Amino acid sequence: MEIVTTDVAIIGAGGAGLRAAIALAEADPTLRIALISKVYPMRSHTCAAEGGAAGVIKKDDSFDLHFDDTVGGGDWLSDQDCVEYFVKEAPKELTQLEHWGCPWNREADGSVAVRPFGGMKKQRTWFAADKSGFHILHTLFQTTLQFPSITRFDEYYALDLLVEDGRCQGVTAMEMRSGMIKQFHAKSVIIAGGGAGRMFPFSTNGAIKTGDGMALAYRAGVPLKDMEFVQYHPTGLPNTGSLLTEACRGEGGVLLNKNGRRYLQDYGMGPETPLGKPQLKTMELGPRDRVSQAYWHELQKGNTVTTPWGECVMLDMRHLGEKYIDERLPLVRELGIAYLGVDIAKEAIPIRPVVHYMMGGISTNTKAATQLPGLFAAGECACVSLNGANRLGSNSLVELLVFGKSAAMSAIEHMKGLPAPNKAALEARAEESQARVRALFQRTDGNESMSGLRKEMMDTMEKNAGLYREEVGLTEAVAKIAELRQRYNKIVLHDKSNVFNTDLFQVLELGSMLDCAEALVVSALARKESRGAHQRLDYVERDDQTFLRHSMAFYQGQQPPRLDYLDVVMTKSPPGVRDYTGDHK
Ligand SMILES: Cc1cc2nc3c(=O)[nH]c(=O)nc-3n(C[C@H](O)[C@H](O)[C@H](O)COP(=O)(O)OP(=O)(O)OC[C@H]3O[C@@H](n4cnc5c(N)ncnc54)[C@H](O)[C@@H]3O)c2cc1C
Repeated sequence: MEIVTTDVAIIGAGGAGLRAAIALAEADPTLRIALISKVYPMRSHTCAAEGGAAGVIKKDDSFDLHFDDTVGGGDWLSDQDCVEYFVKEAPKELTQLEHWGCPWNREADGSVAVRPFGGMKKQRTWFAADKSGFHILHTLFQTTLQFPSITRFDEYYALDLLVEDGRCQGVTAMEMRSGMIKQFHAKSVIIAGGGAGRMFPFSTNGAIKTGDGMALAYRAGVPLKDMEFVQYHPTGLPNTGSLLTEACRGEGGVLLNKNGRRYLQDYGMGPETPLGKPQLKTMELGPRDRVSQAYWHELQKGNTVTTPWGECVMLDMRHLGEKYIDERLPLVRELGIAYLGVDIAKEAIPIRPVVHYMMGGISTNTKAATQLPGLFAAGECACVSLNGANRLGSNSLVELLVFGKSAAMSAIEHMKGLPAPNKAALEARAEESQARVRALFQRTDGNESMSGLRKEMMDTMEKNAGLYREEVGLTEAVAKIAELRQRYNKIVLHDKSNVFNTDLFQVLELGSMLDCAEALVVSALARKESRGAHQRLDYVERDDQTFLRHSMAFYQGQQPPRLDYLDVVMTKSPPGVRDYTGDHK
């Protein structure tokens, strides 16, 4: 098996992975950096982000206000030291992107423009029309090209971490076009593998978001933190799940039920306000968890609109006018026409909540370090505890930058004075990884199909671990996912070839999703309270006495995970009431 010897291996070339690579290359040009990605970097999900990235820039705003919005939005489950660091770094990172060429929208006077976003009580979301992720990723990608020390391994699928002497020292990955497995020996490894929304059938997430990065760390003994917190975005297209960005509401779009009522005023997000552009009162700018949950209640009351694609509510943006829509929301207009045949400049568009983002992930500290020496994680795969129980829109893109850079700095720190690697031992670990894949190829006695198990997993998650949860459903889900993990060992590969064997990669991805799903449902069952995105019909109140703590799920092989808890870090904001009745200014 070929050995690639490098200083740092980064798994994932989305926003977090690319930002880490640049920080490493800038800090020390002699470092060898291997950037491993299962897709070409520009196909990472970051590219799909639409609305923008949050950072304090206007005179009426402050770090304290961004802190308050994030901590309250997260229902006090965020680690406050982490949020304090984040809000201060955010504008620096966004300005840095500008210097690398990111074309932020401008005010008439030439300064950077910002737009309102859900749960943010000041305007602080920087944007590039509604293609912010595309421009951010492009900016980062083109910046990496100037560093010869970054070697890309595009279309390489990471299989297993190499852990020896109690520290992470590399990773195995398969070159997808040849089926060849290589071992990467590295002093530090950074996981930036993205989210896992594809566990659910209806999601805004690209097909690659299968939780591989989370599963890599989890199987190596690093706990997954707060996995029960899954964000539903309130405005997805009802047929494809494609996202209509929160900027639709930020720019002044309104949500209507079948009676034409702006129903959010009935769920603590009023009072109703005149139609304006942009939206300056809470209403449609409530946080995502609350706005999605309001849909569920409208559904129970029979107030939704029946469409060919199921029950929906309507998002109305007509009053913004065609010119403004084309300037600020061109992609949303394109999506509506292309996928639903609805022109948002002329008609209201049906939407419903859709799985969007994982608040939980690989447990890291504020320096992006995991508890396994040599292993770091950043981006959506990580839970640094910025987002708590509910992420505010436009905080994620900045999280990639701030903690991608932190991961790089911590990786460099870790390398100092490391003993020489035990090469033979690492090669033995890599052989085990290769043997795992070989066994999958050789299995002939199974009777399970990848697509069959995946469908059962998705249906279980949707039915039992969705917007609202309860004991019976979650208990059923725990049993079902455990059963599916057993049956997973009976999947037989139909395609035995080596060249772009998508059959193989889908089986591996399903394995990752099942591990993440189990951590999710086990954590959700144990959390007997309602907080942020985790809403229990049988425990409707937030219970700070017992559950103002992070859930930590530890991998136990074929057995369900062991759960433990970790205290939330509080610095200056004691748990309070989330109030969304006031002004956004
Ligand atoms: C449609 C959409 C719109 C969004 N809009 C916004 C927004 O406006 N503002 C905001 O703040 N957030 C937004 N988000 C959230 C945000 O975009 C994501 O959380 C963020 O981009 C994730 O970035 P990442 O670098 O962690 O992962 P990704 O960009 O998903 O990249 C993951 C990388 O990991 C690699 N990878 C994964 N598994 C493996 C493996 N086994 N082997 C090798 N490589 C692997 C992939 O190839 C990829 O390069 C949006 C999300 C979606 C889905």
